[in-house]
Amino acid sequence: MNISEEFIAELKEKNDIEEIISDYVPLTRKGKNLMGICPFHAERTPSFCVYPANGSFYCFGCGAGGDVITFLRLIEHYDYIETVKFLAERAGMNFEVSEEEDESHKKKLLIYKINREAARFYHNCLFAPEGEEALGYLKKRGISLKTIKHFGLGYSPKSRFALINHLSKKGYNNEDVVLANLAFKTRNLKEKDRFCNRLMFPIIDVRGNVIAFGARTMGGDIPKYINTSDTPVFKKSNNLFALNFAKNSGMESFILTEGYMDVVSLNQAGFQNAVAGLGTALTQNQVKLISRYTDSVLVTYDSDEAGQKAAAKAITMLKDSGINVKVITIPKGKDPDEFLRTQGKDGAVRFKNLIEKSENDTEYRLSKAKKMYDSGSDEDKINYLTNAARILSSCQNPIEREVYVTRLSLEMGINKSALIMQIEKFMKQNLKKHKKQEFKNLEKITSALNDKINPEKKENLRAAVAEESLISYIINNVDKASDIFLRVNADDIITNFNRRVFECVKSIIAEGKTPDITSISAKGDFNFEEIGRITKIICSYNSQLVNQKTAYEYINIIFDENKKIKVKNVNELSEIKVKEYIETLKSDKK
Ligand SMILES: [Zn+2]
Repeated sequence: MNISEEFIAELKEKNDIEEIISDYVPLTRKGKNLMGICPFHAERTPSFCVYPANGSFYCFGCGAGGDVITFLRLIEHYDYIETVKFLAERAGMNFEVSEEEDESHKKKLLIYKINREAARFYHNCLFAPEGEEALGYLKKRGISLKTIKHFGLGYSPKSRFALINHLSKKGYNNEDVVLANLAFKTRNLKEKDRFCNRLMFPIIDVRGNVIAFGARTMGGDIPKYINTSDTPVFKKSNNLFALNFAKNSGMESFILTEGYMDVVSLNQAGFQNAVAGLGTALTQNQVKLISRYTDSVLVTYDSDEAGQKAAAKAITMLKDSGINVKVITIPKGKDPDEFLRTQGKDGAVRFKNLIEKSENDTEYRLSKAKKMYDSGSDEDKINYLTNAARILSSCQNPIEREVYVTRLSLEMGINKSALIMQIEKFMKQNLKKHKKQEFKNLEKITSALNDKINPEKKENLRAAVAEESLISYIINNVDKASDIFLRVNADDIITNFNRRVFECVKSIIAEGKTPDITSISAKGDFNFEEIGRITKIICSYNSQLVNQKTAYEYINIIFDENKKIKVKNVNELSEIKVKEYIETLKSDKK
């Protein structure tokens, strides 16, 4: 795909990075730059920085970084073409992309098409004679025709070739159907349908594309639910079921449930804000996804042990991302779908009552602690109060804390100040632990010891630091680049990653273009982590500290380190090899 540099430059100029990132992350000005809570990892103190001067961003916590295009690719999971298209539309620029122009983009579009056709096929099968049982099942569970259509629910027939034959008749290639994970190749290399005799739930992204399917068995197959595996358009851990509806529900909070049927029933009862994970425990990416649309979540998981464990984990993750959490407790251990069904016509009203009664998570945890220690013995009393203090120490809102302290002291007949002292003690411990953890994480990412992006940095720390500073100097002083390139070659750069960056920058300059994070990402074959690192190298440049003189010093360090490596290598060589080596040195001089 060839998009001209001029076009990209205009695109970036018309799409202010500060404006775009502000749509996702509240930013506070810090001098020339802006800081905010990183949307790519869970944190409480901001380490996400936007540099309007060179149109880039970098997170000191997780290492994510790049330009406005990288930002959108990471946060929206767009591919390159989609991002350019989005930004062009936003800026009112004309950008025509023909399908032939980008292979992977073309493949994605094809998978969307195949998924849509499959959804249509499954939906029709639900109303065909073979879908009778599945349709009956939905009816028995009180799902109306309107809801079935709203979700596009369907049925995958028992035949192992129903979908693949249908799609083949429509002109789709079997290989592509396999790529969409709607079929698989058997040992004798014949393609078979992946979903058979199952109730089908299309998973639709916020842009209306059918990206995958959830499927519930109508026979006794195990597991009861299966999903599309990861494909070029779908990653289980990055998506939620019914987010497309919840996003437009206009409601302040989301209801997070465990199952597809819960979401379907809740929607039918008027709760369009219900979403569900895709058969795995809630992931960090899903939490981040939720936090983009709402800061308040009502959690309602199954009341069995597994469900409660999952709920506890989900609550912690949501809270850590600054989301307000309330827990809806459904009486008699039912799940939302069962509850709505058994309540009949009054289901919606009764569920609304449950929401109103829903405890925020502090309350939920306190009542759980109380149940654990309810013998009335002194020992249990102490245990309960200690536990309660620990729970309250994680409560960020001081007013909320005050309310519970008052209530607890009355309830247990103890002095408020004793309880407050205990809470403060725990809070100090938490803070220490938290800071330690954040520091540890930061260290892990930034330390040369664990440098995954440039693993050779560990062995060549002095050289690598000089290389990074030199690269940064070149990018920030393009007029001095030719002078530097006369003095140092790519071969002199010791660490492999830095050499790749150096070569990329050099060739961009040779083409008469400006080396910046945009041109480097477009030209070099770098992944997102590497682009983040390059952004860091560029942005950590300090023009006051680095001038031509210091740049020469970096070059000297690089040469110095090269010599050391040669000496070291010579020491390790055999006598014959040394002779050979001296010969090559001689011929080099000629
Ligand atoms: Zn981050």
